[in-house]
Order: sequence, then C-alpha cells, then structure tokens
Amino acid sequence: VVSIAWLRDDLRTADNPALLAAAHGGGAAALYVLDEESPGIRPLGAAAKWWLHHALKTLREDLEALGIPLVLLRGPAGRVVPAFVQEAGAERIFWNRRYGGPEREVDTAVKERAAGADVQAESFQASLLHEPWTVRTGGGGPYRVFTPFWRTVSAMDFRAPLSAPERAAAPPAGIPAGENLADWNLLPLHPDWATGLAEAWTPGEEAGLSALSDFLAGPVQEYDDGRDRPAKPGTSRLSPYLRWGHVSPFQVWHELSRVRGNGPGPDVFGTEIGWREFCWHQLFHNPDLATKNLRPAFDGFPWEHPEGSGPQTPAILRGKGVPAPSESRPDELDALDALDAWKAGRTGIPLVDAGQRQLWSMGWMHNRVRMVAASFLIKNLGIHWRVGEEWFWETLVDADPASNPANWQWVAGSGADAAPFFRIFNPQTQAKRFDPDGAYIARWVPDALTPAYPEPLVDLKESRRHALEAYESIR
Ligand code: FAD
Repeated sequence: VVSIAWLRDDLRTADNPALLAAAHGGGAAALYVLDEESPGIRPLGAAAKWWLHHALKTLREDLEALGIPLVLLRGPAGRVVPAFVQEAGAERIFWNRRYGGPEREVDTAVKERAAGADVQAESFQASLLHEPWTVRTGGGGPYRVFTPFWRTVSAMDFRAPLSAPERAAAPPAGIPAGENLADWNLLPLHPDWATGLAEAWTPGEEAGLSALSDFLAGPVQEYDDGRDRPAKPGTSRLSPYLRWGHVSPFQVWHELSRVRGNGPGPDVFGTEIGWREFCWHQLFHNPDLATKNLRPAFDGFPWEHPEGSGPQTPAILRGKGVPAPSESRPDELDALDALDAWKAGRTGIPLVDAGQRQLWSMGWMHNRVRMVAASFLIKNLGIHWRVGEEWFWETLVDADPASNPANWQWVAGSGADAAPFFRIFNPQTQAKRFDPDGAYIARWVPDALTPAYPEPLVDLKESRRHALEAYESIR
C-alpha cells in the first residue's frame, strides 16, 4: 500500500501524526504543494519564501534518512493533490489539519475527491494544542477575551508528543518525481538581501529543537522579566520554528512541563504559547482577520493614510542590509515619505528605527519592539494597521496568518481583547524602561547620536493628541 503524507505547516518528522500514519504499514511518500492559486490563499511574503526554501531542503534530507521521498509540486492544491495521488497509485493520504478559511475549503475538496476515488483520506490535530471548535464559552460561542480562553484551555489535557516514523526498508516504487526546488525561485537573487537572515537563522527541525532545549535550559527561568529586554536573548526565538511546524506546540508543552515549578518564568512562557492558540482561535472564527476590523466601529476611523503602498520595498532598502547612513544620500532620505521612513528605520525615533532595522536585517523583531513600532505607525503616523501588517507579512520569517493580523489588530485596538486605542505607547518611555542602558538601540541604530540621523518624523505629543481626536470621532 502506498500512502501519501501531505505536509503543509508541519515541516518536521517527529510528532507528526500524518507522517506517522503514512509510514505505518507500507511505503510512504511526502508531498509539499506550493499553492499560490487557490482562491483566498495568501501568497507567502519574501522572508517566508526564503525560510521555506531552506526548510524544504532540510526536510528532504531528514525524510530521505527515513526512506521517505519528498515530492514538490506547485499549483492549486485542490487539483494538484488528487492528481498526484492517482499518478502515484496511492491508496491512502494523510495530513495535519489547517485552520484558515480558504485552506479548510481546499482540504475539504481534497477529501471529497479522495472519497470519490476510493482513496482513504484522514486528517489529524498537530499544530494547535486545542482545535478552535473544541474551545467554547459557557454560551457556546467563541472566546473574545484571552484570560477566560486560557483558563478554559489550561484545564484541558494534551496528548504527549509522538516519535518520528521508523526508517523504511525501501522507498515506495513508482512515485512521480515532482519539481525542482530551485525552479521555484524562492530565494532573492538580484539583489540577495537575505544575508542577515542566513546569519541569524537555520531553518529546520533540528535547529528548532535545539533552540527549544537551549531556551529551556536557562532563559525560561527568567522569562517573566527577560521577555521584555530586547537587548538580551531572553525569549525563545521559536516563532519561525512554530510557524513552519519544525517544532510542535505539543513538544514545547511537554518539554516545558519538565522545567516548571522553579518560579514564574515557565508559566509566563506557557501563556505566550496560549496567545498563539488564541490568535488561531480568532482566525478560525474570523477568516478575514487580516483585512477586516473585528470591531466594526473602526471601519469609520479617519486614517491619514488609509491604505498605503503595502508590502512594496522602498528603494533605499533594496539590496541593502541595515541602511548605513553613509550609504544613502541625504536627499534620498529627505524624499522618504512617512511609510517608507518607517519601513527603512529612518523615523528619527530610535526604538522604532532599531526594531524596523532588526526586522529588515534578520526577518524578526523582538515582541516589545513590535508593539512599539506598530503603535507608532498606527497612532503617531495615522497609517492603517493593514499597511503595517502587510509589511510585517513581507519581512518576517515567522509571518503567521493568525498571529500577525491578530497582533496588529490588538495594537490598533480594533481586535479581540485588544489594547484600547487610547493607550498609546510612548517610544521614549518604552526605551527608558526596557532598554535602560541603550544597548538595543546602539546595536541597531549606531547612528542615533550622529548628525546624519534624521529628525523625528512627527512630534510625539502632538501626533498623540491628533490620534486621540481621531479616535473620539468613532467612539
Ligand atoms: P517568545 O517570547 O519566546 O514566545 C514563545 C512563542 O509564543 C512564540 O514563538 C510565539 O509562537 C508565541 N507568542 C508569543 N507572543 C505571542 C503573541 N503576542 N501572539 C501570538 N503568539 C505569540 N508572532 C508570530 O509568530 N508571527 C507573526 O507574524 C507575529 N506578528 C506580530 C505582529 C505584531 C504587531 C506584534 C506586536 C506581535 C507579533 N507576533 C507574531 C507575536 C510576537 O511578537 C512573536 O511571536 C515573538 O516576538 C516571537 O519571538 P519568540 O519566539 O522569541 O517569542
């Protein structure tokens, strides 16, 4: 019996129920489909594509060591997957469930096609500790507030992580070859701006598991304070590994439970895993989370820049790492509009610029700074949260269909259990509190004290007042 494990956001060999099922009792092949065509599927951003390229390379090696070939295909999965199953002569197909609206439609269509072709299709829970429909309020609806959500969920049990499949005697015969990864052009070439990404990250399961064990061996115990210190390695940096499923939340939870009991750090960390679940809960119940305010009152918000250039990269960033002031001509910088200045880390507000440059350089930004940089864009510059969300989607290696829009809506005040709009972060106060010796700013904005550094784009007090007035108009 030939079985197919259709892998998606679960690029790992261990704790992968779909892979385990496929490998059980016969020959198994793994399939990955790059689907940018099915209706409603959000195409990956540039940093995510970079990650995916390396992740698939590593996954192919990891799977080959288990005697499981990895086949790559492109196109609308609803058509590509059933055709592949037929061509491979497979009798069974397995996958781990996805929770976005368009993705679920695709999966349902594939299941129906399988049933029609007498192919066994089965799906599993692997990417969330709690599937969104299993968590309900007393009234039977979805949760809109985190604390009760987490209270309910914390009382529920999780399964233990599963091991990787045993090595197969031989790969199944007659599996079609699929496409070449290189032909997918996932890597930036002309110019290659991904040097900083490659220096910062090793995509793949092994690197993810070692990030987890390094974090649990030390920093987790001080996480309750360390998570707010952007200059220090106080957080796990697991986000891209969780996003791509190199590491599963079951593995994280299981390992975490072994280091609990020494102080608040591990519990606080567990709560953050809970926020990830809560974001997916929101996306499941609001499939258009990335485009629609959860609180409709915000539809009438008088944005100064309603929808900007979205994910377009400003010329100043193209082909460069962190833009060094000496590399850019002053007139080029003067010409930056507010949005491009924000993207390029040239707003004249050091903490915001540090975050934006960290993002551009390594495809990741510290959570505290994400909140400050997002608040500055939305509230001090008056730019719609969707514009910022799109830039993060383009540049984050952990760009996540649920966590990114949910957090942008949280900062904007338009989301579920959101920070109220009128709570506007002051980036200077935030820098004093969380980067007291200025180490984070010095690392990313070494030019902050030089004459080449731009004047603040806006007056913080004045723009804050303006934002509050705008908010009054929709209250
Ligand atoms: P840790 O502090 O070690 O946390 C562990 C894990 O918990 C993270 O890896 C992540 O999976 C989860 N987590 C932590 N905080 C949150 C949160 N607020 N919401 C959801 N999950 C959380 N996270 C993403 O994974 N993808 C995104 O696209 C994303 N976009 C964001 C956009 C904005 C505007 C903001 C304010 C936050 C965003 N976050 C996003 C949440 C958070 O900033 C990152 O998960 C975190 O910085 C990742 O670093 P870490 O792995 O070291 O986190």
